Amino acid sequence: MTPCNIVHPAPGYDATQICDDCGTPEGQLHNHFPCCALEACPLCLYWQMISCDCIYQVNRLVNHHIWTKETGFLPPEVYANGPTEKHRSRWMRRIEKAGRIPFVFFPTFCARCGLYEPPMWMVTRRQWQRVMPRNHWHDYLCWECFQALCRCQRLRIPTPRWIH
Ligand SMILES: [Zn+2]
Ligand SMILES: [Zn+2]
Ligand SMILES: [Zn+2]
Repeated sequence: MTPCNIVHPAPGYDATQICDDCGTPEGQLHNHFPCCALEACPLCLYWQMISCDCIYQVNRLVNHHIWTKETGFLPPEVYANGPTEKHRSRWMRRIEKAGRIPFVFFPTFCARCGLYEPPMWMVTRRQWQRVMPRNHWHDYLCWECFQALCRCQRLRIPTPRWIH
């Protein structure tokens, strides 16, 4: 497979994108299956296969009648020790059969100033929802724009340590 052709690239766009986690080029399958953090799940289409619950669904481990919330509705031994090798191989076969999803790069832009791929940062969900208008809760902002919004609203949200 060759990398996807990019038409009309945005300023700063680099057509030779590689997966941040496994280093695979755009248009190709992620390396070290099934461990790449940026591989999407072909079964539920969640963007992160390693954190969807398809492995439990495929193996029919989730049961709301038998198991409780304490074990995430899973058999206690699976909750404690994780899925077994047998669970994993059944799940991987289903993924392969459904067809693995190659890496495609979707850049993030600041929803306010349009900055291309701003550095990641985090605040708590409560802080985020307090500062952001509801219709922008699913957007992404650069740290400077978030700070500007805080200032407009006379809110002080301390700079997270990992910004420096
Ligand atoms: Zn990857
Ligand atoms: Zn899934
Ligand atoms: Zn911005």
